[in-house]
Amino acid sequence: MNWMTVIWPMMIAACLTLALINLRIAMGDVRRLPHVFFFFSALAVAAVTAMELAILRAQTVEEVNLWLRWSSVPLVVMVSCVTGFVGSFFRTGKAWLAVSGNCLMASAEAANFLSDTPAVRHATGLQQVETFGGVWFTKPDVVEGPWSPVEIAGVALVIGFVLEASRTLWRAGGQKRAVIVGGSIAFFFLFSRGHAIMVERGIVQTPYFVGFAFLAVLVAMGHELSDEVFRAAQLSRDLSESERRMDLAAHAAKLGFWTWDLKSDEIWANETARELFEVPANEKVDFSRFMLAVHPEDRDGVQKAVEEALAGGLAYEREYRTMLNHAGNRWIAARGRVELGPGGKPVLMRGVLMDITAQKQSEYELQQLRGQLAHAGRVSMMGQLASALAHELNQPLGAILRNAEAAELFMQADVPNLEEVRAIIADIRKDDQRAGDVIDRLRALLKRRDIESRSVSVVQLLDEVLALIRADAAARGVKLTVSCDSDIPSVRGDRVHLQQVLINLIINAMDALSDTCTPERKVTVSADASKTGFVEVTVSDNGQGIPPEKLQNVFDPFFTTKPHGMGMGLPISRTIIEAHGGKITAGNHKNGGAVFRFTLPVDEQQEV
Ligand code: ADP
Repeated sequence: MNWMTVIWPMMIAACLTLALINLRIAMGDVRRLPHVFFFFSALAVAAVTAMELAILRAQTVEEVNLWLRWSSVPLVVMVSCVTGFVGSFFRTGKAWLAVSGNCLMASAEAANFLSDTPAVRHATGLQQVETFGGVWFTKPDVVEGPWSPVEIAGVALVIGFVLEASRTLWRAGGQKRAVIVGGSIAFFFLFSRGHAIMVERGIVQTPYFVGFAFLAVLVAMGHELSDEVFRAAQLSRDLSESERRMDLAAHAAKLGFWTWDLKSDEIWANETARELFEVPANEKVDFSRFMLAVHPEDRDGVQKAVEEALAGGLAYEREYRTMLNHAGNRWIAARGRVELGPGGKPVLMRGVLMDITAQKQSEYELQQLRGQLAHAGRVSMMGQLASALAHELNQPLGAILRNAEAAELFMQADVPNLEEVRAIIADIRKDDQRAGDVIDRLRALLKRRDIESRSVSVVQLLDEVLALIRADAAARGVKLTVSCDSDIPSVRGDRVHLQQVLINLIINAMDALSDTCTPERKVTVSADASKTGFVEVTVSDNGQGIPPEKLQNVFDPFFTTKPHGMGMGLPISRTIIEAHGGKITAGNHKNGGAVFRFTLPVDEQQEV
């Protein structure tokens, strides 16, 4: 069995396989140049190996010379492609070395191929030589031609180029690649050329090993290239994994993704986005198809937003409704970004969209609810106003009634005391005016108009209230005491409102006393200015007090414990005091009876 007829065809097959693999990769890879060079190198090595085999089996000198001549073609292709591979794969190297080396090589081989007289090498005779395993092969006696030094110089320059490129790559951090690819190319180039010279000069009695050497170079190149391919495959696995994760997240968040290629007017949309627009997976979508799904009333707005985004290269943001066959009208929130091409022109728009129908629906419901609440508020305010008026008018109307009854009694006398009647009528007029004032101011207060803010003397205020209520107190058998320093500072506020508060508190105190069997019914009103910036007014009684569990409710509207009470006096009083910038509190005395305290800000201007 002749091993040469096995090994050499195997080498050819290996070269062709490598060539085909790289051709396939080169066709699908963006960074394809190294694979293209590899493909042609592998083809050339296969051809050189085939010619080597033909020489080993040649019977005549002419036959050998024919193959020596034709081998020039794949040799040139191989050397130039290996140079191209190193340049494109390393992205380093001196161009002048590559170009001059290849030019010398190409011109020597061209001379060898084209001229009638042998230029680089030719055979003058043949020998049959026995080698390992008792295998015989043809060894030509080769004579070097005049172009041989040119070829050697070309190969030397190419080796120089490879070494220089490897050195630069090494320095830039690519040590592994520099050693494996650069080192092996340089080594096997030197080896194959050196070995061929030794064979031709009869120093060694072996076949040519050019094919072997270059197959080794191919293996080294292929090893690093496949490393790249593995890395790319790993990257693509990682990418598709992260894409799956993104898809899952987008699906969970019900986010639709879209990309609009402006040049081809093609819109890519993920599954969620297609579902939102009811577009089947296989239907092509362009801008006009998208606009068709937008509600007619929102189309202009969307068009304008898109145009503005494109004109300014800006972000796009819009909420619009869709008009769909099955799902009816949906609300969509879309956000996007314009991507610009090399010339600053928009080339792409990409973004996300989300179904916000539920959110819009609840916004609408909230708005409805707010409207209803406002209406209810108005109704309740009217109710409060009516209750407050009824409450506050009770006192002046009661006084008017009592005065009118007294006047009637006076008039029944034989000789009516006209002076008394006149005084009573004057009182009635005063009470009537008060009632009118009460109505006006209450209305203003409930409409939240500003209160009338004037300087009010606390001493005067207490005197006025006392005058108004004294008769009532006397009728109820209540001792009403007022204690107040004459130099107490004035406060700022609305006299009638403040009178109202005091009257409310005093009447409540007197009411509380009406059910008690206390021998002495006392209501005390006092004022002091011990708190800086405030005057504190206290109304206390010695009635049954307020049950502790009810203390927090007494200011609530409509809270009352009286059979005919309305529960409006204290809430109105609190509104008035707070509108004056003060505070009102309720409490109980240690030894019985309730205490109401309110503060009012001191009138600073008056103080100065
Ligand atoms: P009304 O007087 O119509 O009941 P108010 O708002 O003026 O309404 O008073 C609410 C409730 O506070 C009263 O019904 C009463 O129970 C309690 N209250 C007010 N002042 C006193 C007081 N001085 N002593 C005991 N309870 C009081």
